[in-house]
Amino acid sequence: MIPLAIPNLAGNEGRYLEECVASNFVSSVGPFVRRFEQMVAASTGAVDAVAVSTGTVGLHLALVTAGVERDDLVVLPALTFIASANAIAHCGATPWLFDVSEESWTLDPRSLDHALAAETERRGDRVIHRATGRRVAAIMPVHTLGHPADMDAIAAVAERHGLPIVADGAAALGATYKGRPAARLGAALTVISFNGNKTVTAGGGGALVGSDRALLDTARHLSTTARVGEEYEHDRVGYNYRMTNLQAAVGCAQMELLDRFVAAKRRIARRYDEAFADVKGAGRFPAAPWAESACWFSGLMVDTADSGELRAQLRGNGIDARPFWKPMHLQAPYRDAPRTPLPVTDSVWRRIVTLPCSTQLTDAEQEHVIARTRAALAGGS
Ligand SMILES: *Cc1c(COP(=O)(O)O)cnc(C)c1O
Repeated sequence: MIPLAIPNLAGNEGRYLEECVASNFVSSVGPFVRRFEQMVAASTGAVDAVAVSTGTVGLHLALVTAGVERDDLVVLPALTFIASANAIAHCGATPWLFDVSEESWTLDPRSLDHALAAETERRGDRVIHRATGRRVAAIMPVHTLGHPADMDAIAAVAERHGLPIVADGAAALGATYKGRPAARLGAALTVISFNGNKTVTAGGGGALVGSDRALLDTARHLSTTARVGEEYEHDRVGYNYRMTNLQAAVGCAQMELLDRFVAAKRRIARRYDEAFADVKGAGRFPAAPWAESACWFSGLMVDTADSGELRAQLRGNGIDARPFWKPMHLQAPYRDAPRTPLPVTDSVWRRIVTLPCSTQLTDAEQEHVIARTRAALAGGS
């Protein structure tokens, strides 16, 4: 089977892990953690980065740091990976689900603006969702597949309503928006994931990035049990969310390869786009004019109601073709979450097919994937 997206451990991973063992620094104290944070900060244009054990806990930590509390609502696109919604639920809050735009598969700023104006009211400095009586505490855009959301438009709406932005930039490492890297897009905090299937992995891990040092310091404090001083004194309910030196060792080796990996991802995406451009019934993944996507995943969109048949045929030919995220309003834990109309989400999610896009995918393998996909779409098998 040609895999969908697997780690590419082509660099110094083994050497750095041996250094950890030799130095006895395997836990969250150790030089690789800080080095990793500095590399992530530099590549995202952040003043600093806070490394944590997974992207999901990073999202939770970012929401807590931004002031999200029990019973709040957090604006979230319905088309996302369930970890974004879970992080909101881990705060005791509920996602308020919004549609994505056709051109980007990211949070649609027009429907955001419209719903905030029509369905909320200001009480003091609080934004209250009228139908549920709950406070709207934050907006969480998702940079879907490494394609940035339209952040200038979203930030303008957020500012008008006095709401902070916490961005799920799980796959946004290497992406730019109007030439700016991920941490400079108007979010208070942006969270990157280093899970095994991401472009750059730490074997698992996450990082918070941003341009507000005080906010990042608060996040770091909360991630390490909110300890003050050298004795067992803690000033808030904190978390044990720190990344380990072992993870960071792998992460540092991978970050050294970031430019190469992102270039490979973009080349793979471009090849699929070109190869299917003349195929009736095949659409491409979004590429909005404001974005230079990091192209974490690539593939195509079919024009039938469901991509299942194409996926089954490809899998029968040894090609790991997969469906895309099932939206949040169709997931058991979030079925009752408040939502605005979701026509684009409903129309696109079943039609998306992700295709093999590991950074070490060879030209011959991709040619095989393209040939089988073209044959399947033409009605062969
Ligand atoms: C990968 C991913 C996450 C979760 O990150 P983990 O590191 O696996 O916890 C969250 N949101 C999105 C959009 C992702 O793609």
